[in-house]
Amino acid sequence: MAAVGGKHYKKIVKATGVETVGDLLGIFPRRYVRKGSLSELEELREGDLLSLVGEIVSSVQKSYQDKRTRRTAYRLEVRVRAEDGSLSLTYFDRQKHTADWRAAELAKGRVGLFSGRLKWFNNNWQLTNPDSRMYGAAAEDAYASMPDLIPIYSSAAAVNTWQLEETIATALDLVTDVPDVLPPTVRETEDLIDVAQALRWIHRPDNFGQKTRAADRLKYDEAFVTQTLLAQRRAAIEATVANPRPGAAGGILDRFDQRLPFALTDGQRSVGEEIAGELGRGHPMHRLLQGEVGSGKTVVALRAMLQVVDSGGQAALLAPTEVLAQQHQRSITAMLGDLALGGLLGGAEGGTRVALLTGSLNAAARRQALAEAAGGEAGIVIGTHALLEERVQFADLGLVVVDEQHRFGVEQRAALSAKAGRPPHVLVMTATPIPRTVAMTVFGDLDASTLSELPAGRGDVQTTVVPIQARPEWLERAWQRVREEVAEGRQAYVVCARIDPDDEREEQGEGRPPLRAVEELAPELAAGPLAGLRVDTLHGRMAPEDKDKVMQSFAAGEVDVLVSTTVIEVGVDVPNATVMVILDADRFGVSQLHQLRGRIGRGGHSGLCLLVSAIDPASTSMERLLAVAGTRDGFELSRIDLEQRREGNVLGIEQSGGRSGLKLLSVLRDEDVIARARAAATAHLASDPALSGSPALARATRRLEDSEQAEYLEMT
Ligand code: ADP
Ligand code: MG
Repeated sequence: MAAVGGKHYKKIVKATGVETVGDLLGIFPRRYVRKGSLSELEELREGDLLSLVGEIVSSVQKSYQDKRTRRTAYRLEVRVRAEDGSLSLTYFDRQKHTADWRAAELAKGRVGLFSGRLKWFNNNWQLTNPDSRMYGAAAEDAYASMPDLIPIYSSAAAVNTWQLEETIATALDLVTDVPDVLPPTVRETEDLIDVAQALRWIHRPDNFGQKTRAADRLKYDEAFVTQTLLAQRRAAIEATVANPRPGAAGGILDRFDQRLPFALTDGQRSVGEEIAGELGRGHPMHRLLQGEVGSGKTVVALRAMLQVVDSGGQAALLAPTEVLAQQHQRSITAMLGDLALGGLLGGAEGGTRVALLTGSLNAAARRQALAEAAGGEAGIVIGTHALLEERVQFADLGLVVVDEQHRFGVEQRAALSAKAGRPPHVLVMTATPIPRTVAMTVFGDLDASTLSELPAGRGDVQTTVVPIQARPEWLERAWQRVREEVAEGRQAYVVCARIDPDDEREEQGEGRPPLRAVEELAPELAAGPLAGLRVDTLHGRMAPEDKDKVMQSFAAGEVDVLVSTTVIEVGVDVPNATVMVILDADRFGVSQLHQLRGRIGRGGHSGLCLLVSAIDPASTSMERLLAVAGTRDGFELSRIDLEQRREGNVLGIEQSGGRSGLKLLSVLRDEDVIARARAAATAHLASDPALSGSPALARATRRLEDSEQAEYLEMT
């Protein structure tokens, strides 16, 4: 880096963490401004970054009394005209001399480049204190001498886009030999430009065509490096030895199958066979089981666990919440019947035991569960994070099942796997379907199975948005529907965004009614619209044993209406519940709403989900609710969800730009690039397993491995 020099490099190193010239050149522009254009304003929203080039057509300094400091402060109001419109800029200064300097710098008639975040103020778009770079004196000349496309870099705390641009330009001139991660044959087949050219064009394109060619090349590099790393991992798994768990004919699994009260769906059967085959191999299974809400993943997992038990091993089931762990323990124990009473009076011969380990157990229960896990009496150990504690030991842990994967981090899964003598088999279940591309990138070393059909006889779930700003009377109708369902013997969930009315007042935003809270709404409903019904509450702040009690009485049908927070979001299974009213539904994400809705319509009865929201019916959040109401296809919804979140968050990383990672590649949009790179990387690795002929690629994969992102790629 020092070789690059330039007056900003120290600051840049500090702000972005770049270590090499390569890192520096890897900070790609976030966007490009076309000289004179403001047309994108139409598509932008408050808070977005806007950059424009134009001439200052007015510039007025005003002084005012600062309310906080009670001193005179200065405001410079500038109007900049681009070719297709104009925009206001406002600068605030405390000191007279800086204010005057700024007024001179941003004088009428000058041409500059301005970059800042958009704000809607006094019915107008404006930029407050934007970064600016001014050009030479005469407006005409200055304008003519600027390039048509100006790169805009994200400004890290202490460095702005121009400082980055200057330093990167210097580096580009110095660099002659850019390491190439692509094998020449791949580059040829893909018809990609030379990497040095690509770097030059991504930073200083003459036109958008060059920028696109450059991005295509660099994007492919990202995909190729990622896929090479994942191919290495798959190869490593193939080379790892695990204890085969082939099961035993006539064992507990066979007996379980005989007493199963329903027929497995085709999906459950075929995925089950896949898993059974893999458990029997001498390499660890790493499988992702994704399935629609209610598609019956638990039975698939349980059958895998029983196969491991039949092979003399144990299985651990990791659940994200206490409620879910308890529910799993209850339902699995119930499904097993006397097969779960191994070694006990009345137990079936050759049965096993199911232990539950959660944070809220009393000392005696915990001691017993720990002993059963360590001694091997419990073939199945179910628990929350408590399972990960050091003192939890297994006699022979052969399979780790992680339910609802998105709640668990990599370290936690690794901690559990570390309790096994040899690497255990791993089954990760997720109810949030993952688009194929994300699966290929993020979960590239997991094989994925999908349960797409729901068991037969499931009722339909109809979802309706209740826009109470436009239709306040519909809310009363919603409560009436709840009463009707209860009169039919069914049960209902009412979901709130908050527990306590006093929580997070300030967070609610202006201009909307306060969010409804469990502790306030429940008594209100019981005294009003749902008078006479048995209403109870459930939320995360209750003591675990109270939560469990409430869930049990709801499951037993002793409670008609459960007013709760999203603690019921995941996995809760009460087939008799048919209505769900979600208040302030705009407060929840798409996948979350889909998960919540998955709690109803689980029995034979059809369900009704009402998304109540007081937001403006024309807002984008309302569109989101309508999307949820419009489809029950979890894949479709998870795509919508991912699109709405920032791409960086898909991978769980901030796009800091300094480190290697995915900068140009979009796991949502670049499906074909990822698929091609995956095939090419797998083939290349097969021909050169140690990458000895591709030193740059070897370095890049090692770096990726080391970087934060690698944690995410691991996911096993
Ligand atoms: P999820 O995939 O959302 O975790 P569960 O495993 O909780 O779904 O299953 C939902 C419900 O469907 C459970 O009550 C389960 O017993 C039941 N179920 C699972 N498989 C079948 C099947 N093949 N036929 C009928 N019901 C089934
Ligand atoms: Mg489940």
